[in-house]
Amino acid sequence: MLPPFVPRSPVSIALAVFAINLVRYALIAVPAYVLFHRLTPKRAVSRRLGPGPTGSKQARRELFYSMVSLGIFGLMGVLMFELAEAGLSRIYTDDRYGPVWTVLSVPVMLVLHDAYFYWTHRFMHWKPVFKYAHRVHHLSHDPSPLAAYAFHPLEAIIEAGIAPLIALTLPVHRDAFIVFLTLSLLINVTGHLGFEMYPRGFLRSPLGWIFNTTTHHHQHHQKTNWNFGLYFNVWDRLLGTNHPQYAATYAAITERPRGTADAPAAVPPGSEGSGGRQLERSPSP
Ligand SMILES: [Zn+2]
Ligand SMILES: [Zn+2]
Repeated sequence: MLPPFVPRSPVSIALAVFAINLVRYALIAVPAYVLFHRLTPKRAVSRRLGPGPTGSKQARRELFYSMVSLGIFGLMGVLMFELAEAGLSRIYTDDRYGPVWTVLSVPVMLVLHDAYFYWTHRFMHWKPVFKYAHRVHHLSHDPSPLAAYAFHPLEAIIEAGIAPLIALTLPVHRDAFIVFLTLSLLINVTGHLGFEMYPRGFLRSPLGWIFNTTTHHHQHHQKTNWNFGLYFNVWDRLLGTNHPQYAATYAAITERPRGTADAPAAVPPGSEGSGGRQLERSPSP
């Protein structure tokens, strides 16, 4: 998993994994932040989900917690290495299951991670535990891409837990695992983009039935009792936790005339209770 020149000591492994994740974050989250939240192209203004522009204080907080999370991910890298050393990791580097499984294992990992995320996310919204971990991520009511890893250290451990879980249970090629991690960050950054860039009819299409949108997760940051899913809309759909105004909000955003910023509010105030299942402030998992 690591380049051969990295010495196999816990400190150097942690630093190498930290550096790899930092580069990935710097190449995906930071340019998305600069492009949308600092330069903000005129044609994107009408697709802004929050009041914006997000301030530098918020950016510093999101960056700080993301760096802490990257440190935790570095430590998780040490655990992954130890699992491999102990012969417990099922991540392989040869050709034993062929190229078809290598490709197929990526969506399989996304489906597994989606279920893991949905349930751990709902658990972290459970009232007795919310304040200990997940509250930090929700300090951003109008998140930017920098919030992709803005977690309390306890949440960072939970989020990173998917890596050893996959390593222990699913035989996956190392390259497929790297593609999965990169895709995961890309979709995570899209969820925190703050701008809805999917086309107008997306939500009414089969793809919109399966995949989540930026509106979906942005709405979760504003209306925290709804929209718990990550990649796919399946769990929220099955368990009735999609915000009742999700489709209406998506339509309002994507039907705004180009270049206009002062269109109807993304989520009409006090609209959480209209239809669908009303959840408690912090629902139990
Ligand atoms: Zn978020
Ligand atoms: Zn949440």
